[in-house]
Amino acid sequence: MMYILEKKKVEQVLSAWNKAFDVYAPQKVENYTQFLPFEKTKTVALNHAHNTRYPPKALFFPQSEIMLKYNSRLGRFEESGSKTKPMLIFGVRPCDAMAFSLMDTVFLSEDYVDPYWKAKREDSIVIGFGCSTPPQTCFCTTVGGAPFSHTGLDAILTDLDKAFSVQVLTNKAENLFKNLPPATEDQINEVKKIQRKATESMAPAFQTSGLKQKLDLIFESPYWETIAESCLGCGICTYLCPTCFCFDIVDEIQRKERIRNWDTCMFRIYSQEASGHNPRPSNKERTRQRLMHKYSYWLDHIGEIGCTGCGRCVCYCPVGLDIRAMLQTASEYESEVARA
Ligand code: SF4
Ligand code: SF4
Repeated sequence: MMYILEKKKVEQVLSAWNKAFDVYAPQKVENYTQFLPFEKTKTVALNHAHNTRYPPKALFFPQSEIMLKYNSRLGRFEESGSKTKPMLIFGVRPCDAMAFSLMDTVFLSEDYVDPYWKAKREDSIVIGFGCSTPPQTCFCTTVGGAPFSHTGLDAILTDLDKAFSVQVLTNKAENLFKNLPPATEDQINEVKKIQRKATESMAPAFQTSGLKQKLDLIFESPYWETIAESCLGCGICTYLCPTCFCFDIVDEIQRKERIRNWDTCMFRIYSQEASGHNPRPSNKERTRQRLMHKYSYWLDHIGEIGCTGCGRCVCYCPVGLDIRAMLQTASEYESEVARA
């Protein structure tokens, strides 16, 4: 079913949902947007072509999260605070929603369920916002997504200038939108046209067919030294990536808290062993790990690429290292090896 939500009513609708949900929506922060708790006085920023700078994975997997508090004198542990209301995230781009589904395979796997991710993810509702004019840095269609993909979403909005169309995808979302006016046939046709045009505007960024085999083949090659030469090891590409999930656990003795913080394979100390040996001693091995994990190891584990083409690592790398170009040159390098 498709409904029409007038733009001038968005804040009113979110305010009404705020009673039953913890509502988050993109809001303007300096010159970028970020998912923040929605308040009546705030304006929802759905006019940015680009994704939010900080990925919405942070709502389910915060950059820093208290796991438990402890009293070592009494030998007691307390669970960290539990949520009172389910979360509703409004305006999630399809690449980030697809990332939620990929992250579920890590945090909600058969072998291990992460209680912190599960508690926040459970009963949550994700309302997507399709990309009518995908920025040049995005490449979702290259990695199996689409600017109006439904994966991981309960409903998806399409921008119709003065209003949004709302395609409802689950029963949970139907209850939220059922009082809105239904879309007319003309509006439905307009939505189809916008969605088709957006998808057609995205040319393949690189060749994915056979890429995993090519990466596996050049694992030991000097190629990695060449592409990692300018990398600063700052970790931005992984911190902002919606599918990166590594964390480190620390006990803050004075605060009597056990905390987990995002970690990244792009840091030297990430793989440093207690003996002093580091199996990934330079940016060469660390860059190789980042690319191989997303484009080879994810495929080994779940049969899917671990990158949704959100383009954040392309936009924010301070030295302009572009994963698309890196993967393209990797496949060309392999061809040279094969020819030799
Ligand atoms: S953002 Fe760029 S410079 Fe920083 S670690 Fe990633 S590739 Fe290296
Ligand atoms: S690797 Fe880059 S483009 Fe792919 S999901 Fe992560 S940040 Fe986005």
